[in-house]
Amino acid sequence: MAQLRINDPITAVKGVGKVKAEAFARLRINTVADLLRHYPRDYEDRTKTTSVFMAADGEKCCIRAVLGRLGKPARLPGGRLITRASAYDDTGTIDIVFFNRKWLESSLKIGQSYVFYGQVSFYNGRKSLVNPEFEAQVGGFTGRIVPIYPLCEGLSRNDVMKAVSQAMQCAGECESVTPDEYSYRHMLVSMQTAVRDIHFPADMQAAAAARRRLIFDELLTFSTAINMVGQTSEKRGIRMSPRSESEFEKLLPFSFTGAQRRAVNDAFSDMCSGKRMNRLIQGDVGSGKTAAAMACCWLAAENGYQSAVMAPTEILARQHTENFKKILEPMGIKCELLVSSLPAAEKNRVKKAAASGEASVVIGTQALLQSDLVFQNAGLFVVDEQHRFGVAQRGTLSDKGFNPHVLVMSATPIPRTLTLIIYGELDVSVIDELPPGRQQILTYQADPSMESRVWDFARKQINDGGQVYVVCPLIEESDDPDGKAAATEMRDMLARDVFPDLTVGLLHGRMKTAEKESVMADFASGKTDILVCTTVIEVGVDVPNATLMIIQNADMFGLSQLHQLRGRVGRGSRQSYCVLKNAGGGEIARRRLRIICKTSDGFKIAEEDLKLRGPGDFIGRRQHGLPQFRIADLTQDVELMRDAAAAASEITKKDPLLQLPQHAVLRERAVKMLENAEGTMN
Ligand code: ADP
Ligand code: MG
Repeated sequence: MAQLRINDPITAVKGVGKVKAEAFARLRINTVADLLRHYPRDYEDRTKTTSVFMAADGEKCCIRAVLGRLGKPARLPGGRLITRASAYDDTGTIDIVFFNRKWLESSLKIGQSYVFYGQVSFYNGRKSLVNPEFEAQVGGFTGRIVPIYPLCEGLSRNDVMKAVSQAMQCAGECESVTPDEYSYRHMLVSMQTAVRDIHFPADMQAAAAARRRLIFDELLTFSTAINMVGQTSEKRGIRMSPRSESEFEKLLPFSFTGAQRRAVNDAFSDMCSGKRMNRLIQGDVGSGKTAAAMACCWLAAENGYQSAVMAPTEILARQHTENFKKILEPMGIKCELLVSSLPAAEKNRVKKAAASGEASVVIGTQALLQSDLVFQNAGLFVVDEQHRFGVAQRGTLSDKGFNPHVLVMSATPIPRTLTLIIYGELDVSVIDELPPGRQQILTYQADPSMESRVWDFARKQINDGGQVYVVCPLIEESDDPDGKAAATEMRDMLARDVFPDLTVGLLHGRMKTAEKESVMADFASGKTDILVCTTVIEVGVDVPNATLMIIQNADMFGLSQLHQLRGRVGRGSRQSYCVLKNAGGGEIARRRLRIICKTSDGFKIAEEDLKLRGPGDFIGRRQHGLPQFRIADLTQDVELMRDAAAAASEITKKDPLLQLPQHAVLRERAVKMLENAEGTMN
């Protein structure tokens, strides 16, 4: 059989046919190399083996025992299949119960010895293993540390483990991004060792060392890519004629806060300086970044330049368009929406308006990045909630016009130390003040025992004229323990059992855009009383009448994300509330959530988050809004980020074009990262 090579398609791996290959493709695994970079998200330590007698209730362990009995499968009321068996060793006998397992007779033989792995429990008063895994010899998935992979439908952990085991023969072909000099300096294990140990570590230290190496590679690539953007961006920019910020402020139904005024003045003086603006406006949710951006679009328009405003979601792009139109169109500044769900004719009309200069402000989503959108005279690009796009896209955007000014806005309250590293080349204005009259959102924790009181409270809010969000964590991974956090079931349950007399809506990311729009419109207009949703509503959505947010399984989110979510209420004048339901996550979870209840400062929460986040918090980790890394986690790996950033700037100083042979791989990966439209790491 031919030797497997790292760039071979996944189908070259034994046991991976067309169907499995399609499943792998859903995880974006198409080649052997992709497979080796499909890192476990966690590990399960199955090194502990014990005897039947010593196996303790609740313990997860491996037990070597001989199969003594294997019953025939029987149907339980409700349709489940049950198979009872038992196994013994010198110390005793243990019951084994399998649910819904067919074909057991073909893999288990009475009188033979197996290693069983599972959690010991008492079932019908007898020491039992329920649905244990088993194999004849330790070493497959018992008696070792087993990787836990992100999975999808059609792929089991065994499928992935088997495929990765085979791919391992190509580990030597994996190229190292980090030049040797830095590997020595930071005591990183070799690439080959790292690839082996990230998947199949002998112990947890080996896994940690492997992680460290791979994270360093990733962060070095990231930092180098950022340096590249900084290098190539043109420093000179359009010089606009100054206008007074107060002239714009008169158009608003409110006056700016001091912090908004400072940010706008910073941006105005950038735009009039003759240098190109490269500014980040950072401000907590609800601090009023949109109005600051609008001011900059106004200044550009008054100078005869067009602006493009890019939002992360269609919902938000539409909402911005409405707001912009209200304020700017009476001044003769034409605002247009461009998103992919528009009819082709409408899209063409907007594109023409952009090309002719008739449209002064074009607001949209990623659709703005399409190459057939051209501006007659672009002067400003605004990127809202910039983290969603990744740092890399700033480059693409800037190519769209005649060296326009760039304004990015972010509500991600990352610790300041990280801001410096990630947004290194940007000037930063912080809006650290909320508009007046905003009351604090009173935030409480609720245990499962308080379920009915929570719903009663929701009803009271609605009776008083308010509206309610119910947020559920979206679970994508099919191997996730329970689906009870799913929004769809929650909506059905609420509409059927709790609020049959009220209107309950549903919003999640897998719905069609048009559907999402109409659901949002119904909620915004008050037609819907309760909106059950996933984190789609996290960013920017503004319904001032919503006074209560209930967050299901709050312990599954990162603190910063909870804070972002909570910012969707308390946007009107009425006292607003946030209820964090924890599914009984224990004292640590409760302590984490207490921080959110006590604090409303996004930065402080981010710092606490950083200190307290532990493993098992993978939803929050994936969605905290920082650039999406394959393995690094900026909130956890701050030290490595610093080292990598220092190495990157040393390398770019020494070899600005990365032409030295030891920088070839780094260069290739950094360029690829910049090209990747989603800003995710390769
Ligand atoms: P974010 O910073 O989260 O993007 P927005 O720009 O969406 O915040 O503003 C949140 C809400 O506050 C909007 O309804 C906006 O009209 C309002 N707002 C913004 N600035 C002020 C202000 N200075 N005074 C009163 N309301 C304001
Ligand atoms: Mg916003």
